Amino acid sequence: MLDQTDTLKDRLQDTALLPGAGDFAAQGRLAVRDPATGSVIAQVAISDQTGARAAVDAAQAAFADWSAMLPQKRAAILHRWHALILEAREDLARIMVAEQGKPISEARGEIDYAASFVQFYAEEASRPNIEGVTSHLSDAEMELWREPVGVAALVTPWNFPSAMITRKAAAALGAGCTVVIHPSAETPLSALALAVLAQRAGFPDGVVNTVIGDAATIVGEWTADARVRALSFTGSTEVGRLLYRQSADTVKRLVLELGGHAPFIVFQGADLDRAVAEAIKAKFATSGQDCLGANRFYIHRPVYEAFCARFTAAVEKLTLAPGMQDADLGPLIHDRQVAKQQAHVDDAVTRGARLLTGGRVDDAQGPLFYLPTVLADVSDDAAIMREETFGPVAALTPFDSEDEVIARANDSEYGLVAYVHSMDPRRIYRLTRALQYGMVAVNRTKVTGAPIPFGGMKQSGIGREGARQGLEAFTEIKYVCRDWA
Ligand code: NAD
Repeated sequence: MLDQTDTLKDRLQDTALLPGAGDFAAQGRLAVRDPATGSVIAQVAISDQTGARAAVDAAQAAFADWSAMLPQKRAAILHRWHALILEAREDLARIMVAEQGKPISEARGEIDYAASFVQFYAEEASRPNIEGVTSHLSDAEMELWREPVGVAALVTPWNFPSAMITRKAAAALGAGCTVVIHPSAETPLSALALAVLAQRAGFPDGVVNTVIGDAATIVGEWTADARVRALSFTGSTEVGRLLYRQSADTVKRLVLELGGHAPFIVFQGADLDRAVAEAIKAKFATSGQDCLGANRFYIHRPVYEAFCARFTAAVEKLTLAPGMQDADLGPLIHDRQVAKQQAHVDDAVTRGARLLTGGRVDDAQGPLFYLPTVLADVSDDAAIMREETFGPVAALTPFDSEDEVIARANDSEYGLVAYVHSMDPRRIYRLTRALQYGMVAVNRTKVTGAPIPFGGMKQSGIGREGARQGLEAFTEIKYVCRDWA
């Protein structure tokens, strides 16, 4: 097992230089910091444009053999990767805490979640990839073949540094693609550790390639390269739009998992204690740095004051500490995240909101520890009601009618997930139909998992990850018509 600091640092400095794990034409070092303390925990080799191209060279060279390998053999390697991830669960969780800051229980949960995608796609990889079609021509046989698209570029964020990699990579690899991976600069160690385990699992050289470096340079090289046939990106809508445009010239297959700005709707008649407990999870998991995080809480006016009081009381019990102390919340990832929380709180208060708790940094803990915060009576024109806050600030507002709350919930460029609490099945049916969200969660919060298609409508993204659809995103359909007459 790794302790934090020295052992971790030593081990990962070595791993960063293993083939396939970030050694592409190394051009310097990136300092990785622990957000809880600000101290440097590792130096990682970084690559430039030449390294990014070398990674595609390697992936392209490996593609023919990997895509031609029997699906069962690819599946066996994925199964080994899955087993190695679970074996290294504690190490991986501690690495994640050290660079990302989340509480250790959440980090362990993420490793399990990350591993579940590898297992799921190990199984999906060996399912049939040829479908028959009802013929519209006499004497002809028709089939649809699903073929791997080619080299796939995978670009991932820092908030789920392991699961966002495996959700993409296992699907792409299971489909028969080779991959080039660019993780966030904040969390390269989790990515490198997964790359090392992939190598130990037996992926042939060139199949899995992890490149650390300046994002615009590395990913820009990949979007410009016609050999990269698919791009799967998880991150902000702003960067997603940029990569969408950059991918146009080479007409890449795209999966974009972008921002969320989830509404959390509570009706009179819902189990209020349960709604409060689920609201705490929906807002404060990963310290609020979650694309599924609830941002806007619409509460039916007859239960509004009761919800505000119970929710605030529950929030005031939440604890905040460095991740290894396993409190409810850890530090935010960097000072821009802290500045955004404060800007959203100040803006809402200026527009008439009541600050019920929090609203500032917990100086006793350190500059990146933002107190869990509740704002009530937040007006719809406040920045927090329009933009993703991506942190531990909850904005509450009352509503009077079903039509009103549907209109307000849908009045957003985002459409990733919506949460609804009600015990009235007809109301739930109407809401589920009307909400323009890729996922609707009724009376609970944690609803995602490897077998379900995860993704958003509108500017929350394109395509789905997880489930069979996640693997098919890395394939092309080839229609074959054979006439023997
Ligand atoms: P980000 O968009 O800043 O970065 C994501 C990735 O893109 C990183 O690897 C980064 O290095 C890279 N990147 C940044 N600028 C780039 C550029 N100019 N060219 C190419 N690549 C670039 O996002 P983030 O701050 O790391 O993550 C937070 C965002 O991710 C939030 O908006 C959140 O909602 C979103 N997110 C979405 C999902 C989902 O599944 N929908 C999951 C997790 C996070």
